[in-house]
Amino acid sequence: MHGLVIKNTGSWYLVKTDNGQCVECKIKGNFRLKGIRSTNPVAVGDRVQIILNQEGTAFISEIEDRKNYIIRRASNLSKQSHILAANLDQCVLIVTINYPETSTIFIDRFLASAEAYNIPTKIIFNKVDAYNEDELRYLDALINLYTQIGYPCLKVSAFNREGIEDLKKELKQKVTLFSGHSGVGKSTLINTILPELAIKTGKISTYHNKGMHTTTFSEMFPVEGEGYIIDTPGIKGFGTFDMEDEEIGHYFPEIFKASSECKYNNCTHQHEPGCAVRKAVEEHYISESRYTSYLNMLKDKEEGKYRSAY
Ligand code: GDP
Ligand code: ZN
Repeated sequence: MHGLVIKNTGSWYLVKTDNGQCVECKIKGNFRLKGIRSTNPVAVGDRVQIILNQEGTAFISEIEDRKNYIIRRASNLSKQSHILAANLDQCVLIVTINYPETSTIFIDRFLASAEAYNIPTKIIFNKVDAYNEDELRYLDALINLYTQIGYPCLKVSAFNREGIEDLKKELKQKVTLFSGHSGVGKSTLINTILPELAIKTGKISTYHNKGMHTTTFSEMFPVEGEGYIIDTPGIKGFGTFDMEDEEIGHYFPEIFKASSECKYNNCTHQHEPGCAVRKAVEEHYISESRYTSYLNMLKDKEEGKYRSAY
């Protein structure tokens, strides 16, 4: 029988079968996935084959090929990775420009990682009810910037429901990863989008139990219109990945576009002569803040902060 893994508790998986039934499954035997040393062979979002036993227990016998998956290192020193979720259609990055502040460096790193994984991303600016005039102006400037680069943006408030119906439309028929700093309102938003679920299971925020063990497990929540939200408690961004210096610029679409005019095709857009990217920054075609984020990622990489995940 085929199904979709919608919950991973660490010891068992909840699989929604194609006929709509939810079955608790264990894993059968030892999965060794090509090229991944993972602490969890099966992840939320995986399409799997399951076998039901006569006693009513069930196990996962096969994982179908993944369209994509996101990982993070199991721990700083570990060479193993934890697969957070598989088969994502899109990410939404929840951003607040204040309470708490989300820096453009954080936004840009997230966007670049999502580009590297080839996952389309939308930026959702939450708490628009709480900003003063200056903050609202800054918000609009950010929306301008990111919309122009090609990232759809939406202003919402979980408190007064502004933009919530538009957000719900974006989630239809898609598997969407919700990300963002802690405190930006992810749980509140999810509870607003899924009122039935909130009543059934209690506030989702209990999953975020801040003081808890850092090993976190993901869960998928069905939304109206055959979509799913994946909430990965505690994840701040993606796992790292192997990149060459000149590759980082590929994940900033406007930098990538301008770089076709650079004199050297392995230009890192720092000190090289004939760099079209630096010229575009000087002439304000590329935003200073994006270029700063780009340099910042490059620097971290040189300092070895980017270690690849396995
Ligand atoms: P999470 O850590 O991202 O899951 O954030 P929470 O959902 O726990 O929310 C963090 C805080 O922000 C809580 O005190 C919420 O009540 C508050 N909050 C969430 N959404 C909004 C909003 O739209 N407007 C305002 N003003 N506060 C919000
Ligand atoms: Zn260049």
